[in-house]
Amino acid sequence: MLKIKGEVPLKDHTIFKIGGPARYFFVAQNEKDLKNAILWGKKKKIPFFVLGGGSNVLFSDEGFRGLVIKLRNTQYEIRNTKITAEAGVPLQKLVFETAKKGLSGLENLAGIPGTLGGAIWGNAGAFEREIGDLVEEVKILKIENCKLQIAKLKKKDCKFGYRDSIFKKRKNWIILEATLKLKKGKRKEIEKKIKEILKLRKEKQPLEFPCAGSVFKNVLIETVPRKIQEKFKEKIKNGFLPAGVLIEAAELKGYQIGGAKISEKHANFIVNIGNAKANDVMQLIEKIKKEVKKKFRVQLEEEIKLVGF
Ligand SMILES: Cc1cc2nc3c(=O)[nH]c(=O)nc-3n(C[C@H](O)[C@H](O)[C@H](O)COP(=O)(O)OP(=O)(O)OC[C@H]3O[C@@H](n4cnc5c(N)ncnc54)[C@H](O)[C@@H]3O)c2cc1C
Repeated sequence: MLKIKGEVPLKDHTIFKIGGPARYFFVAQNEKDLKNAILWGKKKKIPFFVLGGGSNVLFSDEGFRGLVIKLRNTQYEIRNTKITAEAGVPLQKLVFETAKKGLSGLENLAGIPGTLGGAIWGNAGAFEREIGDLVEEVKILKIENCKLQIAKLKKKDCKFGYRDSIFKKRKNWIILEATLKLKKGKRKEIEKKIKEILKLRKEKQPLEFPCAGSVFKNVLIETVPRKIQEKFKEKIKNGFLPAGVLIEAAELKGYQIGGAKISEKHANFIVNIGNAKANDVMQLIEKIKKEVKKKFRVQLEEEIKLVGF
């Protein structure tokens, strides 16, 4: 028997603490659970949405009128320099467990909330390291009508790019598991690096408030008008102009609508300072896009996943 719940507030399942109800909600502990839930939804002819740690999503105030499946498959195995982990394993668990074994690779991703599945979906990254750099293979569930099929993708098939992957374009693929290849390193040094990264994050990011990380993607420098490139040339990093630089320069830090506010600490973060509605956040997103477009002729693109709008 599947324990499917009705009308579950999604604000309780996102780091942002925002979002209306899921019509149906189910926690899948393993592959079998997941398959059964998908088939249940197919029979009812309702859409599904796979939720990881809820750290990169904004659900609308109306919520999601289908089945939200929260993935909590959490098995993993470390063998020599490789780790194979199910999609529901928290990324931070992998950061710390691999460090303990003296395996280097994940330390720059310390402090990124959410699951391995969510990280692979969006090719999460920080401090010049992306999860895609480490991926060797990804196991997926393909859903075609009522047919469920397991497949394995090699790294090149995942089409990783800046906060991008093939998974963003394949709504009917669910990431089940991934194998990452790390390098041998020194436990002490890896743990020291993790500490440094966590300290840097604390200094730069408004971690004291609920949020969904960076709201907008950084901007590929070629898409920025020449004059604006010149104006911000010292801020360009690895071919990208940080979205936060433009938002700050548009003097939007601290701007607030309802319970949502553009962080004073980091302009690319919108924080929930108390009972924010998804609608407040959406209004802020529109305001930011409009002002940045008007002032710098740059079109910002959301990094966070908007659901139910
Ligand atoms: C304080 C804070 C700091 C952050 N810092 C960073 C950072 O430095 N770098 C960075 O890249 N991100 C950052 N983020 C954003 C976020 O943590 C990452 O994008 C994270 O990898 C999302 O994982 P998740 O499990 O929470 O995904 P969710 O938010 O649950 O889902 C995100 C998307 O992934 C899809 N998805 C999740 N699991 C699966 C699966 N198994 N199969 C198919 N699709 C799936 C969902 O359907 C959804 O579309 C930050 C967020 C916060 C709140």
